[in-house]
Amino acid sequence: MVYSVKKQILRSLVFVITFSLLLSFYCICFGNFFNSLGNTLAVATAMEPIEKKCLLIDPGHGGEDGGTVGVNGVLEKDLNLSLSEVLGTILEFSGYEVVQTRKEDKMLYDRNVNYHGRKKMLDLKGRLEIAKTVGPDLFIGIHMNAFPEQKYSGLSVYYSKNQAKSKDAAEIIRTNVKNNLQPDNTRETKAASSNIYILDRIPCPAILIECGFLSNPEECEKLSSYDYRRELSFVLYSSLVSFLEE
Ligand SMILES: [Zn+2]
Repeated sequence: MVYSVKKQILRSLVFVITFSLLLSFYCICFGNFFNSLGNTLAVATAMEPIEKKCLLIDPGHGGEDGGTVGVNGVLEKDLNLSLSEVLGTILEFSGYEVVQTRKEDKMLYDRNVNYHGRKKMLDLKGRLEIAKTVGPDLFIGIHMNAFPEQKYSGLSVYYSKNQAKSKDAAEIIRTNVKNNLQPDNTRETKAASSNIYILDRIPCPAILIECGFLSNPEECEKLSSYDYRRELSFVLYSSLVSFLEE
């Protein structure tokens, strides 16, 4: 009995000490983040009512269209969706309205029309129609790159020529990625040509991010890791906030 009580006290002590240590650890690691987040939310609350700014995130490919295949076998469509969801969650948490063209593993073509041999084109049209309906402050296409030679790596951003603001968003992302994630990345932003279907026809500010090369073994391994996708999402998030609050 006495032994059991002692054991219980000991267990309680171990629990309290472990809990305190964990709490201290969290405070040290995330204190600044939650403080600044709290300040941001407080400012947002003080400024209400404000119209929420809206972002449309478009995870490329899906369903029977896997996109490019990584050297480790990972499919582009899955990484696009995962990264979009992390990015979207952080943006929503910060008070922005976020719409995703797809939240499932599927293409976005109209199943009620004769889609045989036209799935890819109808899929792109479907995404463009969503963009026209939503009319976001910024459209963000999320993709992964590939090239026959394995040596190429690094994130790159395309922007739509239809709206001057698109280039501003692309430039902020390029700068932040270079400063915070990829110091050796010398890739310049590029105006989308007519072969990037959505960016060529979209009426709102729009960019397409090629997050990295799945043909490069090192970068493919990074992009396959949830931790790296979360890091990249935070860099994209802070860039998008800079763009929207300019
Ligand atoms: Zn793609």
